[in-house]
Amino acid sequence: MYKALIVVLIAVVTAAVSAASRNPLRAEAHIPGATLRIEVQQPIADEKAAEIIEWLRSASSNVSLAYGRFPSPSARIIVIPSGRRSWGGDSPVPFGRVTRDGEEKIELFVNPDRPIQEFYADWTATHEFSHLMLPYVRPRHKWISEGFASYYQNILMARAGHYTAREAWQKLYAGFERGRLSRPELSPNEAAAAGIRKARMKIYWSGAAIALLADIELRERSGGRESLDVALDRLQRCCLPSKRSWSGPTLFAKLDSLVDIPVFMPLYRQYADAAGFPDIRPALQRLGVIIENNSVSVMPHAELADLRVKITDGHARL
Ligand SMILES: [Zn+2]
Repeated sequence: MYKALIVVLIAVVTAAVSAASRNPLRAEAHIPGATLRIEVQQPIADEKAAEIIEWLRSASSNVSLAYGRFPSPSARIIVIPSGRRSWGGDSPVPFGRVTRDGEEKIELFVNPDRPIQEFYADWTATHEFSHLMLPYVRPRHKWISEGFASYYQNILMARAGHYTAREAWQKLYAGFERGRLSRPELSPNEAAAAGIRKARMKIYWSGAAIALLADIELRERSGGRESLDVALDRLQRCCLPSKRSWSGPTLFAKLDSLVDIPVFMPLYRQYADAAGFPDIRPALQRLGVIIENNSVSVMPHAELADLRVKITDGHARL
């Protein structure tokens, strides 16, 4: 079903190079829910810049696979050539960030020497675009914004066909392990207060674990009518883009107001100030995500196997 949707998305995506000026190259990408303004800074060869614009249309469409449209109607995307390989080794997109200063802007630092196929396999742009599904969350609750984006980067790459479902679960599991082993003495809120440099993996992956637990509970309790996709769809309709900064509890209380029975604040109360790492092993077991020697297998007949398939296929409602 998601493949049919991708075909539709590709059909409606059009981009027009509005100015072929040397510096920078500008283009627009029309995707469901948004007209994205793309700016490719120089020096990047024209041919590679055109390939990068094409890739950005695809990567932004990945995020439309959460609830059928891009979350920010007129975001700007700035592509910046970077020779700073120390940021990300040989990665085609070593670094990205979202800034919100009156408009929503995504900066992607790219290594234009890498082949374009590597850009399609890279998760950085999908992660950054996923941030736009939430408003700006205050730094002391940064595990929510980084965690939700880390969860979605994996399931959206699977929905778009860039990862197999097993690969997505393998990457999620590997992330949960990095988070579990990182700063176990800290709670997610304490890790966020310590900062990204001191507790990166704890911040990213404790938040991703809580996103997964919320998604499972919403889907299971509603028989598939609700999900994290549905909650974020409703959040976008009511409240995004938002110019203010949100605290974690304010955001979670708002999300709870958009679903049948509160899920988010109960998870916040359970985990946000608790040291250690959310125990996601029972949830993975029920999903049929089985781990042996750090290698993931997915079981077709597990208790929540259907729910698991919907997470990586998407569009339970569509
Ligand atoms: Zn991020």
